[in-house]
Amino acid sequence: MPQHHITAAVVRQAGGPFKLEPATLRGPGSDEVIVEVKATGMCHADIVVRDQHLPVPLPLVLGHEGAGVVVEKGSDVRNLDIGDHVVLSYAYCGQCRPCSSGHPPYCEHTFPLNFGGAARNGTHALSDSTGDGLHDHFFGQSSFATHAVCNQRNAVRVRKDVRLESLGPLGCGVQTGAGAVMNSLNVRPRSSFAVYGAGAVGLSALLAAKARGASTLIAVDIVAERLKMARELGATHVIDGRAEGAVNLIKDASHGGVEFILDTSGVPTVIEQAIAALAPMGRLGLVTGFPGTKAAFDINYIFQGGRVIQGIVQGDSLPHEFIPYLINLYASGDFPFDRLIRYYEFADINQAAADSLSGKTVKPVIRVGT
Ligand SMILES: [Zn+2]
Ligand SMILES: [Zn+2]
Repeated sequence: MPQHHITAAVVRQAGGPFKLEPATLRGPGSDEVIVEVKATGMCHADIVVRDQHLPVPLPLVLGHEGAGVVVEKGSDVRNLDIGDHVVLSYAYCGQCRPCSSGHPPYCEHTFPLNFGGAARNGTHALSDSTGDGLHDHFFGQSSFATHAVCNQRNAVRVRKDVRLESLGPLGCGVQTGAGAVMNSLNVRPRSSFAVYGAGAVGLSALLAAKARGASTLIAVDIVAERLKMARELGATHVIDGRAEGAVNLIKDASHGGVEFILDTSGVPTVIEQAIAALAPMGRLGLVTGFPGTKAAFDINYIFQGGRVIQGIVQGDSLPHEFIPYLINLYASGDFPFDRLIRYYEFADINQAAADSLSGKTVKPVIRVGT
């Protein structure tokens, strides 16, 4: 198989920077494709791992919201062709019990496949200019690079009449928020919905709840700019989570309690506030939280009220179905997720990370391709 001479953003030390370097990418295995990456979203997990709060070994190529064009494929790849536009999503094995029962976000091999820093057999697809291996396969893609190798399972073919460079965030952050609302919580028309945290995941959830026809749309955050954006995107109520009586404000807005709530913060005090705002038979979805973090709740309040607290990964998304569905919704004007995006050139990737951390940009998308 021919090798590809590429440019990749390499993290060599905890905290960064991302440094653009020449690198070599091997050809595809039998069930893999090589994707010429056009653009890649930057997601919170990229920064968490750059800073080594999650220990994926360095030096490493991050990036897990890639969008690009298939330029080479292995002999067993059936459903993708050269020239196809693809969005890259999370990796899963396709064979374990969660995978074979239609729930690949809960794959038993999630950690080695997405955070192992190598293929499952321990080899690297990328090497640097001295010939040393680079840690890769981040979310099965490592798409902060001009080319990426990935399995056919996590390369999702998408329609060609929609601007490809905007689509990468559908592979992680956007599907996490939208899927939590549409697949996991199953938010109903004319219901009440609240989201804690108006970042990329939270605002994607808000847009999805609006598309579902929820009539009360509450955004809770502590950053005024984000609340302003939530209002522009359709929130009927925006609430500063630190305000005195915030829980009562949320209950008043939702006639006594919220039917569907999504927490995107992972912060115990925020989650406890969300639990307090739940209506009887209300559902709270959790999409993030560091290991060992604990929140307290009143057992009686949960069971007597028939309330549900649900963990959700990747919005319970089956990427090959859900990502094209979201793109159709976007194309029809009912899911304008691109309003969250600000574009950066590849050379400005460190600025993108800084703007994401400061909250200046909700969803940075790095233009990787030329
Ligand atoms: Zn992500
Ligand atoms: Zn699996």
